[in-house]
Amino acid sequence: MNNRARPGQAYCPTDVEHIANVITHGLWILPSVAGIMWMVYLARSELEFLSAVIYGLSLVLLFSVSTTFHAISYSGKCGSLKNFFHIGDRAVIYIFIASSYTPWLTLKDMGSWGCQFLCLVWLLAAIGIAYQYTFHEQYKWLETLFYLVIAISPSVAIVTMKESSGLVEMTAGGMVYMAGVIFFKCDGLIPFAHAIWHCFVIVGALFQYYAVCTYLLGQANTESTKLSSLADSRVLEEL
Ligand SMILES: [Zn+2]
Repeated sequence: MNNRARPGQAYCPTDVEHIANVITHGLWILPSVAGIMWMVYLARSELEFLSAVIYGLSLVLLFSVSTTFHAISYSGKCGSLKNFFHIGDRAVIYIFIASSYTPWLTLKDMGSWGCQFLCLVWLLAAIGIAYQYTFHEQYKWLETLFYLVIAISPSVAIVTMKESSGLVEMTAGGMVYMAGVIFFKCDGLIPFAHAIWHCFVIVGALFQYYAVCTYLLGQANTESTKLSSLADSRVLEEL
């Protein structure tokens, strides 16, 4: 472990920490591609398909941009490219948060609130990315605060949810991400802190991916099957 970064500068990991950073996210690029394919397979309506693709692509983007950034960072070359991917690595977190909310706000029945919260979460993500681009590596605590605000505030939408299956897993995933933030802020204090943060992201994503597949996708078919079997039984009763 190296010393903590000075204000306004990025932490410089040791070689072994670099390798751990690359491996912990690099290993998940292919599984997340398979993850998109599985979600698309489960989708039974256009909305389910769209939500699956948006959420799935954000998973692939998160792991691939992160891996590319850490690999370039390890190589120690390509200063401007490294800077581009560092901003990208942080910006992708905003996209990932908004995409994680998208299936819930789209597929759960929340009346008109779903659409409004969906607009809000993507607007916050756009503001976060603009902030990241403008003030990269400055005011780091403000950056962390932004992540937490955008990650937590849309969860108010839960109160408008008419049916709440899957919420336990979704919240558990969110809690894991939150706990991981402690390590995200501990570069230079705890060895491999950033790689540990990566692991928290993976576990949080697994919880939420499971919830999306189990409680949100494939429901359109179930609903229509239920309705048609109900209609069939009524017809039979009338006969
Ligand atoms: Zn990282």
